[in-house]
Parts: sequence; C-alpha cells; structure tokens
Amino acid sequence: MTSSRPPHRAPATRRPRVPRAAASKPRPRKRFGQHFLLPPWARKVVEAIAPEPGDVFLEIGPGTGALTLPLAATGAPILAVEVDRDLVAALAGSVPRNVTVMTGDVLTADVFPVLTGLEPQRPPDAAAADRPARRFRIVGNLPYYIASPILVRLIDWHRREGAFADATVMVQREMADRLVARPGTKDYGVLTVLLGQHARITRRLDLPSTAFKPAPKVRSSVIHLAFGPPAVRVVDEALFERMVKAMFGQRRKTLTNALKGFDPTAPAVLALAGIDGRRRPETLEPAEMARLADLFHDVRTPRML
Ligand code: SAM
Repeated sequence: MTSSRPPHRAPATRRPRVPRAAASKPRPRKRFGQHFLLPPWARKVVEAIAPEPGDVFLEIGPGTGALTLPLAATGAPILAVEVDRDLVAALAGSVPRNVTVMTGDVLTADVFPVLTGLEPQRPPDAAAADRPARRFRIVGNLPYYIASPILVRLIDWHRREGAFADATVMVQREMADRLVARPGTKDYGVLTVLLGQHARITRRLDLPSTAFKPAPKVRSSVIHLAFGPPAVRVVDEALFERMVKAMFGQRRKTLTNALKGFDPTAPAVLALAGIDGRRRPETLEPAEMARLADLFHDVRTPRML
C-alpha cells in the first residue's frame, strides 16, 4: 500500500529531469482499460455521486485522479485502489491528505482493514439524525474489460460484509441497459436478475465517448446501485442463481426446454408454480423465478417419514 504522503525524494542534484507533463500524465495502458475522464465530465460524475458529510469512499481505479481530486475536494476520506504501479506513483505524490492510494487488483485486494480505519472529516450535523455518522460508498470509472466481475464482487461484498450503502460507477452503455432492463426486453438477463436481487439499480448519467481521453469505441453510462435486502425472498440463494443462469443460457427456448437440462422435473415444477412452460425465460418477473427456485428446492429436499 502507498499512503497519501509523497514518496521519498532523491536529492535535487541527482534527480533525473522528468518533464512535468510526462510525470503527471503517464501513457494510457490499453490492457488496464485506461480511458481518462475529462474535467467537465468528471465534475458531472461527482454531482451524480452527491457526496455528503459522513461519507467514506472506496474508489476503484483512480487512474490519474480525474474523479479522485474533485471528490477529495469535498473533504471526504477516499481509499483509491489502482492496479497500475506507475499511476499509483504519480497519483500518490499529488493527492491531498484525505486520499489513501493503494496498489492492488480490486478483484482480490483486501480493502477493509484500511477502509474501516478511515473516519469522515465532516460528520453529519445534528439535523441529519436519521443518517449514520459514517457511510461507506463505492465510486469508480470502471475498467470495462472486468466490469462484470467487479460488479459481482461488489454484490459479494454487500452480502458478506454488508458494509457499503451504495456504488456509483461508470460502465459501458450496453451493460447499463442490461442492468436496468425490464422483464420482456432483450436486455433483461442474468446480470439484471442477479444484481437486481441485491441492489436497486438506476441510471444516473449518459456520456459520449468524447468524455474520455483516449476516447473509447463505446459509449458510457453512470449507474447507481443502492444495496439492500434481497428483492425477492428465496430459500436457497445458490440454487436460485444456478437456475437463473441455466434459464438465460437457453433464452431462445421455451421455459420447459430451457430448464430441462437444469432439472428433469422442470415440466412438473412449472405446472406446480402455475407458470406456462411455453413462455420464454426473459418474460419471467423475479418473483416468479423465486417461486420456481423454491419449488425446485422442495422437490430436491428429501422428506423424512
Ligand atoms: N478514474 C480514472 C478516470 O476516470 O479518469 C481512470 C478510469 S480508467 C477507465 C480505469 C482505471 O482502473 C485505470 O486507472 C486502470 O489502471 C484501473 N484498473 C484496471 N484494472 C484494475 C484492477 N483490476 N484493479 C484496480 N484498478 C484497475
């Protein structure tokens, strides 16, 4: 981990002359999905985040600090996790004291020991009695090549640690479409259902590719995930997940055919659930999927006489 303090500097006479621009703007690395936000758009994203007193942020992939610096200007403590060591070195020397920069892969890094040690500089005032004194939030302009596993990790954190209130993150526009999709549409699928089970997801902002440098080939959206209790109650969450993945793996088939490979009793279970097996998987509401999953759980549970 690298703290917010500037790294040790060699004596001035021995220091190689590095042009300022090169030092502060390392070359974007494609393999890390680096597309840096331009300042006017970074301000809009910070507005979409809507920082409040009491907030403590985990930022995923701070890069050159496009979001980090305006967010830090609100006084909120930030733990920024960045995989690119060169960017970490450049950023650690330029951030204010309320930013801690950590070198690491967000998919594997253990952020909690550092994060839980951060205290808000501005606790909520007495009028905001309904708000917790400290609220952990996630932000980031995600590296798109691993956006799905990152979102799955956020849900996993929420389920295991329950620490985060929300996440405001940039994703590719098509992924945002999938995450906010309604049943019966082509975008409705595994991600919609499994992430929607643990977070209320809304779109906050659409951005053109010109909002970034270098401009990516795709358009982007900022989405907001408000973590909460499961949207639908299920007896066996793992079974529910497996069933949803099996269903959408065969989304062009009827429900009966899509679910036969998952469980040969599917036709009977569909009949028991009162769900027409000729329907397509994407027409099912989450509550109907929960009903089905619970029935599959029942038929698989051995009965004691
Ligand atoms: N936040 C900056 C901005 O908005 O300009 C940079 C965003 S850029 C799209 C994604 C950032 O995530 C890059 O800085 C990249 O190096 C970093 N990154 C890529 N993979 C990562 C990983 N596994 N863990 C942490 N950071 C990662």
